[in-house]
Amino acid sequence: MKELKILYLYPDMLELYGDYGNIQVLKYRLESRGYSCVIDRYSLEDIAPDFTKYDLVFAGGGADIEQNILSNDLIKYKENIKQAIDEGVFFLLICGAYQLFGKYYKDVEGNIINGLEIFPYYTEAIEDRKKRCIGNIVIDVNLNGNSSKVIGFENHGGQTFDISSPFGKVLVGNGNKFNDEFEGFFQKNIIATYLHGPLLAKNPELADYIIKYCLDRKYDENLCLEPLNDNFENLCREQLLNRFLSQ
Ligand code: GLN
Repeated sequence: MKELKILYLYPDMLELYGDYGNIQVLKYRLESRGYSCVIDRYSLEDIAPDFTKYDLVFAGGGADIEQNILSNDLIKYKENIKQAIDEGVFFLLICGAYQLFGKYYKDVEGNIINGLEIFPYYTEAIEDRKKRCIGNIVIDVNLNGNSSKVIGFENHGGQTFDISSPFGKVLVGNGNKFNDEFEGFFQKNIIATYLHGPLLAKNPELADYIIKYCLDRKYDENLCLEPLNDNFENLCREQLLNRFLSQ
């Protein structure tokens, strides 16, 4: 049976607004099509994982304090993570994890939390802790040449600068900074985004984009994924899009 292996980073520390739902959606959409899905978890003091052995690495969002606690641990794996990225392993990084893959995150107290420096962007929190980018967000994303409206929920004080290739164009919400035109960071096998939601529950098309990428890469094929019954998800999306886009 064909199988995808997922590494879930710091599940006890990076998990905000249902981020774990992303893993559940991937598992459900794989198993419904007859694929198997193995999920390994890694957190502080666990045995070092080999990132290159996975098909997908996932990490969610977290408060400044958690980012502070785990950043040095994550940096231990910098070379191994870089190798995995170069070999094409898919990384899905939400909010706090998105920030930690850049140069640094300056938190609301002004502390510099070192990032992995794998990507050239950096993030600085607004000094006034009451000012945050909070709310529903819709972005327009190009997935394999098709435009797709991706829906999520953002809650970040961090303002991210120097993004070379954004994930999407903001239709409603803030994005990388207050009132930004763009959201997230996107590169062939990397999606780094502020969108909680959980992201993939609200966007099945995006979930399938990731699944197809991982299966095609692992089994060297160009799959046409069997469609699933997404009637309920699509009805829900219609409602949300109607509400958010008419704001
Ligand atoms: N602590 C970070 C910020 O406030 C990330 C928050 C998050 O992951 N939602 O910007």
